[in-house]
Amino acid sequence: MRDLFTVSSDNPQHDDLARYARQVRYAPLGEEGQRRLMESRVLICGCGALGTVLANTLVRAGVGFVRIVDRDFIEMNNLQRQVLFDEDDIAAQLPKAIAAANKLRRINSTVEIEPLVADVDHENVIGLAEDVDLLVDGTDNFETRFLLNDVAHKLGKPWVYGGCIGAEGQTMTIIPGETPCLRCLVSDAPPPGTTPTCDTAGILGPIVNVVASLEAAEAIKILSGNAGEINRALTIVDLWDNRIRHVKLDSLRESGGCATCKDGEYPWLAGEKGSHSAVLCGRNAVQLSHTAVGSLSLDALAKKLEGVCRVRFNDYLLRASVEEFELTVFPDGRAIIGGTDDIATARTVYAKYIGS
Ligand SMILES: [Zn+2]
Repeated sequence: MRDLFTVSSDNPQHDDLARYARQVRYAPLGEEGQRRLMESRVLICGCGALGTVLANTLVRAGVGFVRIVDRDFIEMNNLQRQVLFDEDDIAAQLPKAIAAANKLRRINSTVEIEPLVADVDHENVIGLAEDVDLLVDGTDNFETRFLLNDVAHKLGKPWVYGGCIGAEGQTMTIIPGETPCLRCLVSDAPPPGTTPTCDTAGILGPIVNVVASLEAAEAIKILSGNAGEINRALTIVDLWDNRIRHVKLDSLRESGGCATCKDGEYPWLAGEKGSHSAVLCGRNAVQLSHTAVGSLSLDALAKKLEGVCRVRFNDYLLRASVEEFELTVFPDGRAIIGGTDDIATARTVYAKYIGS
């Protein structure tokens, strides 16, 4: 009789696949697909609602290398839908990328996970994307999505777009040179304040899981060598009105009006479009990305602010409450100023307490 606690295998070289047995048994993926998945590399851009579900699914599936980039820290109202985080992460004041990586390493220690606490922008995006096979969208804003669309086309790498609001979400898989791109679909990023956000329209947890799961399935197809099976339509799901629509996109690319696809123009990547400071969606907060400070010592900053206000800090961020504002400062000099949605006010607070 076999010992219940002994894992045995007739073929030792298959041991590394044992944890993926149910997935490998799915014939269209199979052992070859799984091995390709384990050798593949992915960039998850943004690790909030969509990003945590994407990271959770892809790390469990055994993608070999997962780079997670996120600029933010965790708040209590994130836990309703951001599946990798818990109350302990908030108490520890961890940035999202770090908290996610800690959890993901306990889920699957065989996956190499690289967390980066940073804002994806036109200066760093090439470095983040050039050594991966696929980019997946876990962001909450069109500016970053257009930047991803640009860099994907510049580098000739596929990317998967996803977004949701309320109970509705949509996703689209983009293979440069083959399928229509985001800019074929929407010619420009909508101006700030003109589209509903999670803060103004709210969001239900289930739509996040649906959209991110659709994105993850597309990622698994592409990374396992089954790109021929991708969804070539724009898929729109509304969980409240019980509708799923597939919008065919073939004619978009054929119509030929897209400067990214036709002329190789990448205005977001060139920094011609997009801003460096951002009012954070529904947060009454402003992010200041490109400050003159550069890298700074949180330890030294804490000492400087100690006599002025209450300061808490760890390896990843420093938090200070001054006047009516809540400052969160990262070692790269980036800061999120809570308590205002006015960029000029945020800059003044930054200059006053952190430096200029
Ligand atoms: Zn296009």
